[in-house]
This record gives sequence, structure tokens and C-alpha cells, in this order.
Amino acid sequence: MSFIQLNNLTKYFHDSSNPAVTALNLDIQKGEIISLLGPSGCGKTTTLRMIAGFEHPNKGEIHIDGKEVFSETHSLPPEKRGIGMVFQDYALFPHMTILKNVMFGLNKWSARQKKQRAKEVLELVGLEGYEKRYPTQLSGGQQQRVALARALAPNPHVVLMDEPFSNLDAGLREKMRFDVTNILRKANTTAIIVTHDQKDAFAVSDRVVVMKDGVIQQIAAPKEMYRCPKNCFVAQFVGKTNLLTGRMDDDLMNIHTHIGKVTLPEQWQERLETVKLSIRPEGCHLTDQGAFCGEVVRVTYGGEYQELYVRLHNEPNLSKEPMLIYAPIDQDVEIGTIVTFDIKPELVALVE
Ligand code: ATP
Repeated sequence: MSFIQLNNLTKYFHDSSNPAVTALNLDIQKGEIISLLGPSGCGKTTTLRMIAGFEHPNKGEIHIDGKEVFSETHSLPPEKRGIGMVFQDYALFPHMTILKNVMFGLNKWSARQKKQRAKEVLELVGLEGYEKRYPTQLSGGQQQRVALARALAPNPHVVLMDEPFSNLDAGLREKMRFDVTNILRKANTTAIIVTHDQKDAFAVSDRVVVMKDGVIQQIAAPKEMYRCPKNCFVAQFVGKTNLLTGRMDDDLMNIHTHIGKVTLPEQWQERLETVKLSIRPEGCHLTDQGAFCGEVVRVTYGGEYQELYVRLHNEPNLSKEPMLIYAPIDQDVEIGTIVTFDIKPELVALVE
């Protein structure tokens, strides 16, 4: 049995024909860090709140560490589920010192044990020496580490984090992704993180769960999800991509598309009539003798690379999207430049 099991969870608020979450199944191993990723309104927070016990599912079961915490006949209250929560705004008590904030969740412990444990977790999150300060005297990143220390203090089965990085500016966000992952790993804690940001999800998680309209679209490790997105939605939501429709060649290796013949990697080579392809922009590399040729119609500077939108010469249909290709920053290209490129089969995927 997995450490956390969500079976067939369904939740609707007013309208049973339009659930916020539909028949959600997810198995999580001990120590795993999982992200729930998806656009606004896809049901991430509702899922997290059902696990925490703040929201009752209309159907389904939740097991944590072998114990049934929710079924249609039984529901454990949030405080008995062994859960640590980190809220988006950290929810620290402003009138309490950092030490008292962290001790707060340990109400059944003796005063000495509380203090000792709070000091232990503050050391784990790198905030020893800050015990006597108040939350307003800390930076955003430090406040977040206090919130994480408070959640970890009672040794919960699982830590739930709702949009933990959304209040941080870009630089700090990157550092906190790294710090939070390290702290969770050191504490060997299972964690479920809600985010709408692909970079957050990819940077911190062992596996990512992509949701849309209350339904899981794909569950996979970040690299697998990027390279083999299951459907068009995942391909477009997780990174950028070129979506093409095509027909399988008799050789079962190539797909005829509007830009020409695209070779599939081996795992996708099977007999299908019409297929959809997702080709990552970095799967197209500019080269003098490339099989594909077109004109650059838009250039965006992305920092480490340039994004080129290329209209293929063999494609008279202007309603088709131009191909998105990444080019090195030192490559001399502008609107109107004719480029040729090849496509690496490893970055081609068949999608539903
Ligand atoms: P966001 O990223 O914007 O927080 P989310 O993916 O977390 O979105 P949820 O907050 O889980 O999405 O909401 C899923 C759906 O359920 C939405 O359509 C939302 O309007 C609806 N919903 C959530 N909470 C309630 C509620 N208490 N009452 C009625 N509808 C709700």
C-alpha cells in the first residue's frame, strides 16, 4: 500500500454536474515530493483541502500511512490527520516571537520538549539565532522558512503547501525552491505542493500531477512529462511546443506533416493513421543542410536563447502556426532571414 492513497475523490460545491474535482486517483510514496500543477480553477486547492480535512469529498477515500482518514462513512478531523500546512501568506502570528510561532503546533508536548523541538526545526531551516525576533523583522524567504519549521515541528506524515513561492520575487523564488526541497529532503518528509507555475513544480518535485477542469491529465517525473507529454494540453501547459497534425508513413517511422516528414523516436513508432505531434522548440536545431527550410517571421530574445518563429517554405497555408525554434543568442538572425533546421527525434512526442 502506498503511503498516501487518494481513491476516486470527487468534490462538487453547488452543481453535481460540474465538479471541482472528478474521480481523482493518486498514490504517493513516503518521502516523495509531489506537485499539483494546473491553471487557475483546475481543482488543485480543493484537492489539497480535501487531504487536509478542510473540505469533505462527495465521493472517494483518503488513506494516510495505512489509516483511513476519509471515506463515505468516516472522516477524521484535520488535527488528527498528521498534516503540516504551509499557507500561501505563511499565516504567522505577528504578536508571537519566531520561537513561539514554531512551538504553537506542539500543544500536547511539555514546555521543555516544545522549546527543544522548536530549536531543532529552526536549525533545520537555517534560522538558529532568530528565536526572539518577530515575523515582521524577517524577510519573505525567512518568514516562509519559519512557516515550514512550524509545519514540520510535530513530525507530520505529510506537509501540504499552497502556492508556497507566489509571494516571493523572482530571485528569492529560485533560492527558496532549492532551500525548501533541501529542507523537506533532510526531514525525509512527504510533501504535496500546489502551484500554477511549471518552474516551481519542476524544480521541487519527484513527480508532477497536471490537472485541468478537475481531472488529472498526467502524472509523471518532470523530465518524462516534458519529453513525453500525454496530450496537447500538457504539451502546451508544461513549457512551449509546436503542435502538428500528421499521418503515419508506411515505414512506421515517419509522420507526414504540413512542414514535411518528421521522424519519430522508436518508442512512438506504431501504426496510427492521423496523429498529433508535440515538438519542443529545442528539438529543432538550425543547421546549414537541414531538412526543413523557412523564413523567420518573429524573433524574441529570451536571455539565454532567441525564440524564432519560422514559416516553412513548403507550407502555403498561412492559418498554420509558424514553428517555434530556439537559436543560440549569438546566432545572427532577424525577421526575413531564411533558416534551415533539422528535428531531433528524441524531442518529438505523439500526443492525444
Ligand atoms: P487557483 O490556482 O486559482 O487557486 P485551483 O486550481 O486551486 O485555482 P480550486 O480553488 O480548487 O482551483 O477551485 C476549483 C473550482 O471549484 C473552481 O471552479 C472554483 O470556483 C470552485 N470552488 C472552489 N472553492 C469553492 C467554494 N468554497 N464554493 C464554491 N465553489 C468553489
